[in-house]
Amino acid sequence: MIKKALVIGGGVAGIQAALDIADGGYQVILVERTPSIGGHMAQYAEVFPTLDCPQCILTPKMVDVGQHPNITLLTYAELQRVSGEAGNFKVEILQKARKVDHTKCTGCGTCWQKCPAKVPSEYDAGISERTAIYIPFPQAVPAKPVIDTGHCRYIRYMEFIEGGEEGKKPPQCRICEQLCPVGAIDWEQEDQIVTEQVGAIVVATGFDLMPIERLPEYADDPDVIDGIQFERMLSPGGPTTGVVQRPSDKQIPREVVFVSCAGSRDPEHGVPHCSRVCCMYLAKQAMLYKHAVPDGQAHVFYIDTRTTGKGYEEFLQRTKDEGTVYLRGKVSRIFRDGDKLKVMGVDTLSGKQVEVSADMVVLGMAMLSSEGSKELAARLGIATNEQGFFTESHIKIDPLESTRPGIYLAGTAQGPKDIPDSVAQGSGAASKVLGLFAQSESTSEKMVVS
Ligand SMILES: Cc1cc2nc3c(=O)[nH]c(=O)nc-3n(C[C@H](O)[C@H](O)[C@H](O)COP(=O)(O)OP(=O)(O)OC[C@H]3O[C@@H](n4cnc5c(N)ncnc54)[C@H](O)[C@@H]3O)c2cc1C
Repeated sequence: MIKKALVIGGGVAGIQAALDIADGGYQVILVERTPSIGGHMAQYAEVFPTLDCPQCILTPKMVDVGQHPNITLLTYAELQRVSGEAGNFKVEILQKARKVDHTKCTGCGTCWQKCPAKVPSEYDAGISERTAIYIPFPQAVPAKPVIDTGHCRYIRYMEFIEGGEEGKKPPQCRICEQLCPVGAIDWEQEDQIVTEQVGAIVVATGFDLMPIERLPEYADDPDVIDGIQFERMLSPGGPTTGVVQRPSDKQIPREVVFVSCAGSRDPEHGVPHCSRVCCMYLAKQAMLYKHAVPDGQAHVFYIDTRTTGKGYEEFLQRTKDEGTVYLRGKVSRIFRDGDKLKVMGVDTLSGKQVEVSADMVVLGMAMLSSEGSKELAARLGIATNEQGFFTESHIKIDPLESTRPGIYLAGTAQGPKDIPDSVAQGSGAASKVLGLFAQSESTSEKMVVS
């Protein structure tokens, strides 16, 4: 039995699993495919039902991961191959080239100040830009940059020269290299395969939001945005410093419509499942919008509200009490009418057509399994459902075990859920790993005694 675990995915569920296994005294390798751990929670302005600032409650855990003596953190990395069985898996992890030597880099931030290449920021869900050499957000762990080779001017220039291509040469650059005070830029750094032996694996790869383009009847306008974009707009540390602005003209929207079940519970246009958190995060966002624009009007279109967590129904009631109007109905179309957007729906309580004029619309898009989940499942030899969420060994009595012994599931990788349930599953999966490791100890102790 190899008493070392691999956790795949550094969102709140994977972070919790890694910390609990490491605190239990065992070595953990945490693999995260983006340049920083934190996952989606790190993008939010405040979190329901307590309206905590996520940075205040998540950042300490991220820092603990970065500093824990039992955790090896591999960011910008992905699992490539797995063989073996519970207790003794051989895993091959692709460490993508960062082109920055993290042993030299001090994280001073000088290098990205003058980078001329601009790319839509993944962290800000496309509503701002980042540079080609970057850390995704100020609280990133590790707080050291990577060079996005697809957008770095110098790398594109070199590819152009070496490829002997014809046409206009891309501009030369290397500004980051000139600025770096410790010589940490490493153009020669290549992708590497890291091979490890582990006894257990936790899959915590999270979710992606359904792209709004998949609902063209709602989304064909710059003032129609998704829930994560709105979170970034509400965030005091976000690109608008918490000022709610309509994307088309930067004006403060006086009327905002929030649309729940945008793609969820809709097998025809989206997915059949309920995404479980949209009712609550739209209530939160409507409330935060009213806090930011007290004379503004928020409307929420809903099919029915699902508020099954502790304190959730009370939170929804508070949103209503603070002036948000709830309209029971499914939105059929959103279209531009001059300066306004028209949101058409049917009020299922009165049976009447409803039309609401809005300056901006926020879609509560469906939660999907994270990109590449089915491929990852094939590599791990475990099952997913049709939507790509990892399948439990038994949905009721073994909800944390995957379909393969020694591989456990945590968080939204298994299905849509909120932060408390993701954290609970992270701890649950960790306890399964600790149980497996302890079992082998007690078995070998018994063998010695007998
Ligand atoms: C707009 C919005 C607002 C929300 N607000 C709240 C709220 O206020 N309160 C609340 O309780 N819940 C809220 N939620 C739900 C919350 O986001 C989730 O419960 C939580 O983020 C789940 O954490 P996770 O770790 O399972 O997944 P994620 O946060 O998605 O993290 C998964 C991590 O795995 C990484 N990853 C993915 N694939 C791989 C791979 N193959 N290899 C390595 N790494 C990989 C990802 O990069 C990511 O870092 C909200 C959801 C949305 C959409």
